[in-house]
Amino acid sequence: MSGVEERIRTVDEKFQDYLTDESRLQGRAEGIFFPESEADIREFAAWAHRNGAAATIQGGRTGLAGGAVPAGGCLLNLSKMCRVGKFFRDVGAYFLEVEPGLSLRQLRQEIKQLKSEAELFWPPDPTETSASVGGIVSCSARGLCAPRYGSTNHHVAGARIVLAGGGIMELRRGERFVSLGGAKMDLLDLFIGGEGIFGVLSRVTLQLQPRPPHSWGFIFFLEQKETLYAFVEKLKGSRHRLMELGLAAAEYMDHTTLQLMAQYGGAANSLKAAPPPEPGVLAAIYLEAHCREEEAGLEIADKLLEMAAEANCDPDKAWAASGEGGVEQMREFRHAAAAAVNFRLARARLSEPRLTGLDLYLAADDEDFAGLLEKYVAGAAGAGLNVAIYGHLLGNRLRVNLLPESYAQYEEGRRLLAQWALELAGRRAQADRQHGIGKLKRELFLQTAPRQYIEDLKKFKDYYDPAGMWNRGTLLPPAQSG
Ligand SMILES: Cc1cc2nc3c(=O)[nH]c(=O)nc-3n(C[C@H](O)[C@H](O)[C@H](O)COP(=O)(O)OP(=O)(O)OC[C@H]3O[C@@H](n4cnc5c(N)ncnc54)[C@H](O)[C@@H]3O)c2cc1C
Repeated sequence: MSGVEERIRTVDEKFQDYLTDESRLQGRAEGIFFPESEADIREFAAWAHRNGAAATIQGGRTGLAGGAVPAGGCLLNLSKMCRVGKFFRDVGAYFLEVEPGLSLRQLRQEIKQLKSEAELFWPPDPTETSASVGGIVSCSARGLCAPRYGSTNHHVAGARIVLAGGGIMELRRGERFVSLGGAKMDLLDLFIGGEGIFGVLSRVTLQLQPRPPHSWGFIFFLEQKETLYAFVEKLKGSRHRLMELGLAAAEYMDHTTLQLMAQYGGAANSLKAAPPPEPGVLAAIYLEAHCREEEAGLEIADKLLEMAAEANCDPDKAWAASGEGGVEQMREFRHAAAAAVNFRLARARLSEPRLTGLDLYLAADDEDFAGLLEKYVAGAAGAGLNVAIYGHLLGNRLRVNLLPESYAQYEEGRRLLAQWALELAGRRAQADRQHGIGKLKRELFLQTAPRQYIEDLKKFKDYYDPAGMWNRGTLLPPAQSG
């Protein structure tokens, strides 16, 4: 096969889609390279290093923060690297080696084919199944069932990383440790959630686990504020018992999000699962449970229905499903929330192409849900902006999407997000890196993350990528990243 240089394609009309991701931030790049093996990535890294070229790594380009959007230089698109490697069992645990370009959809199919005494699954689930393993791991996108299964790190046992210059580093969990922001961490976890600024994940060892045999999904539709807040209070108050029984996900979707789902349902494939909300519906709450015993599933169902009734929510208007297929359909409903907000952005960009995603995603555990929601809604209304809010209920990890129609509104929205982030950071809320910081949320992140944490990130960047070759402008300012 010819050398890397001959295989780098010019970014012409045909490759315009590769200059953006789901954040709709528009980038620029001169070349694009599609490696087919780790050796190709190494050769590319050596070539880029020799030529002082910047390189932006791309997985499925479903990121919401512009991490895969290039700021000049060359694109390294991993979509052709989707092979599955060794499947093995070690000390009772299950492991699968995969290439980074494998999509979540493909991964799930591959896992179904594995020969094992238990039915297995990989818990991280950002709901968007075209996301790649490399992107999910790099953003630490733990997704929907994070309350039950924790962060992505717990499900990654090792990785091979191509460094600037083409060197390779192999990391296995538990072997090397560093300090980040004053906390000891596994070196592997620097790359998990590193958004590609330190190097390219060329192979990832996933830790799989047996799938709980019983799954349940519930969607409650709330019509009054008081009902919503009372139900959320009850859910949070019974959190520990619900977790013991198998609660895996608890998600909130506000009225605007439901309206967008209804509005765009016919237009976008991913929104077909979203039936229009009935008139008068103020919000929806999606709950998912994974249970070892059938009785636990029945108990959680009873408990949720009881809590809903106590909060004055009509249980007859709730949906419930059990079994993998039924729950999958319910999940589609939650996925449609993000898809609808993204679809609306694509529409708004037809008249104002400078618009990008405009959202805040904070971990605000200490905040009161009702107070937080009222703050966002009142703030957006005060700035004359529409807002769509959805996301994780437990821990108040709400994704607050401002919906500007004009560039003036967009700028007003940016100001408002910065104000909220600073205010909440002062009250211990932190930028949650789950959806990625990328380029769009970098300034908010730098303003609100602890100083020591940022200094340490810069130190690692200087160490692993001194010329600032990888992912310029992602997570760290371009000056620090190249
Ligand atoms: C409708 C919709 C719903 C979504 N819902 C969620 C959700 O619920 N939770 C959530 O967390 N996210 C969600 N997302 C965002 C997105 O799916 C995740 O962030 C996902 O992890 C991105 O994966 P990707 O392969 O598309 O990565 P990309 O967008 O291609 O890249 C993301 C980042 O990872 C880096 N990267 C990619 N591959 C590698 C690699 N091999 N080595 C090093 N760096 C790499 C890129 O440079 C970039 O910085 C949603 C997106 C959409 C469109």
